[in-house]
Amino acid sequence: MALRDVIGQDGAVKILKNAVLNQKAASAYLFHGPSGIGKRLAAVNFAKALNCTVPAEDGDACGNCLSCKRIEGGLHPDVKEIRPEKGVIKIDEIRNLEEALSLSAYEGSFKVAIVDEAHLMKIEAANAFLKCLEEPPAGSVIILVSSNPERLPDTIRSRCQAIGFKPLSGKDMALLLKDRIKGPDEKMLRTLISLSMGRPGLVIDNSKGGDILKKRQDFLKSLHEMIFPVSKAAKNPSWADKEEIEDFLDSLELFLRDMLVLKTTGREDLLMLGPEVPGELKTLFKTAEEEVIIDCYRGVSDIREGMVYNPNKSILWNYMAGMLKKLLPPAEKRSKQDKYA
Ligand SMILES: [Zn+2]
Repeated sequence: MALRDVIGQDGAVKILKNAVLNQKAASAYLFHGPSGIGKRLAAVNFAKALNCTVPAEDGDACGNCLSCKRIEGGLHPDVKEIRPEKGVIKIDEIRNLEEALSLSAYEGSFKVAIVDEAHLMKIEAANAFLKCLEEPPAGSVIILVSSNPERLPDTIRSRCQAIGFKPLSGKDMALLLKDRIKGPDEKMLRTLISLSMGRPGLVIDNSKGGDILKKRQDFLKSLHEMIFPVSKAAKNPSWADKEEIEDFLDSLELFLRDMLVLKTTGREDLLMLGPEVPGELKTLFKTAEEEVIIDCYRGVSDIREGMVYNPNKSILWNYMAGMLKKLLPPAEKRSKQDKYA
């Protein structure tokens, strides 16, 4: 593998290849963008390009020399990667990294440090890390990878060259998924492409996104609990953390989009969550008014903007329930509100 195999990120890949070709690599980068779109993959392959012994003409790695193979296998002494453990990057990890960077390269031309999900550094770790960035050891390249760059301190962000990664187009997704996963038929492929929203990692990397079809089931279950609570006790949010809330918002956008599409075109084959939405929720597709759906859609964007402030889960759940119950027909709206107000 090499940078050329990072599909759908032509802009980022070109910048990186040129940096190698012109020997102008920055001492620190921040690869940012949604999770599951190839940021870490690009970081590893950039490390290969920087250290490849038989580089391609365009600055890319060969992918086959000893150096490339060692980096691929995580065995290269000059390329270190740290990842969060139980959701945290600890200060000890950063200190080890600092020490490793301060030594001269064993065999490669560059020492490369990759910090995956860098926003999960604890504050002490971030402070320790800042020292590496302020006085970068000669011949070293630090790559921070983050799906939540706004959670990194400004002092860190401002010292990195930012490189943005984008969700993949449907065409690139189809290309990639056909290559990586065996056996999905056309219908399943379409469902997976819709559900992953341009983020192939959610489908092919189970450690990141888990089973995307199960996520869809979980979303529909939560949504049902939210709009049709069976008791007062059921009003508790079923989200475990911020990431689950963000996943819920992603799926909710698809759900609202599907409602509009079905209303305006009547075509079930265009639905992104698929036509198999269970009973009570499906009835919303018939009853909800167009303006209300659009209002809810706007509401979701507002909530998303507010997510940087770590909202209270219960308050958010009740707020969204109130918003989404407007999708119910008027009579039912009243009875639901009376029952569990
Ligand atoms: Zn190579």
